[in-house]
Amino acid sequence: AFDVLVVGGGPAGAAAAIYAARKGIRTGVAAERFGGQVLDTMGIENFISVQHTEGPKLAAALEQHVRDYDVDIMNLQRADRLLPAKGPGELIEIQLANGASLKSKSVILSTGARWRQMNVPGEEQYRNKGVAYCPHCDGPLFKGKRVAVIGGGNSGVEAAIDLAGIVSHVTLIEFDSKLRADEVLQRKLRSLHNVSIILSAQTSEVLGDGQKVNGLLYTDRVGGGTGHVELEGIFVQIGLLPNTEWLKGTLELSARGEIIIDDRGQTSLPGVFAAGDATTVPYKQIVIAMGAGSTAALSAFDHLIRSPLP
Ligand code: FAD
Repeated sequence: AFDVLVVGGGPAGAAAAIYAARKGIRTGVAAERFGGQVLDTMGIENFISVQHTEGPKLAAALEQHVRDYDVDIMNLQRADRLLPAKGPGELIEIQLANGASLKSKSVILSTGARWRQMNVPGEEQYRNKGVAYCPHCDGPLFKGKRVAVIGGGNSGVEAAIDLAGIVSHVTLIEFDSKLRADEVLQRKLRSLHNVSIILSAQTSEVLGDGQKVNGLLYTDRVGGGTGHVELEGIFVQIGLLPNTEWLKGTLELSARGEIIIDDRGQTSLPGVFAAGDATTVPYKQIVIAMGAGSTAALSAFDHLIRSPLP
């Protein structure tokens, strides 16, 4: 059995594994896809102290760093179920999709999240070529250009306000007949001179020249016609979905499905910790996930030294 078993191999999981292994305890990482969302990222310019890197390069460096330690990396393994310890000093079990099962004295959940997509023609083709999901990450790439934000909830309206300070013009497109964001955000948004808002509009296609985005089409849900917006970038803000479906009913999740943790990364289950985008941590970013993974590993170690001997 492991002392610490990390589920998920993104920035949070890699940091957790390194921090745990450095305590000289038996550490394992089971990940569906080692590297996580970083593998899907092109330029990264906010990984502090590294001016510019690329996703696949950072993912390879994460794996290399983890391999420097005695960590059992189980890649391409999806966890399906968590069985809590039956009592103090007992083991926690993680069941894998392939039928195998792993046992550990403590577990760190770092299964990350995925952006909800529009699922319209062109979205996949122009991903990272104008279609973006993270304003904190990619906003500065569109300096002085025209962009749209899809989604009028809090994250969409926050993104539009944020981007309006960087780009030349923002078009906010909302499916509903009204914005769903907090009133104070809506007021701020409406005060900005370079933002326009289109309501009752369903994005139907991302347009491009084969290399990069140059527009989008939407259906007017009231009048029924089609609208065309010329632009260089599209930020999709219709939800970040935590990869926690398999944990439902096992431990406490927020209304959005995020694993509820305290400031030490402790979940509602003894011996089970969590870190990164899968949790209630505010702001989903690489450096934040790494910090949270380190916190969770130190908390797991603290838990182990206080636990009854096996
Ligand atoms: P993830 O990176 O999502 O990793 C989750 C891990 O868990 C993966 O290994 C996954 O395979 C695994 N997993 C999931 N479910 C299971 C399961 N059931 N069993 C086993 N394993 C499982 N952030 C920045 O700071 N700067 C940027 O420039 C930036 N750009 C981005 C660009 C894009 C296109 C995207 C999508 C995100 C970007 N982000 C950026 C956000 C950043 O990638 C995330 O905040 C960060 O990767 C979160 O790390 P994590 O370890 O919590 O989760």
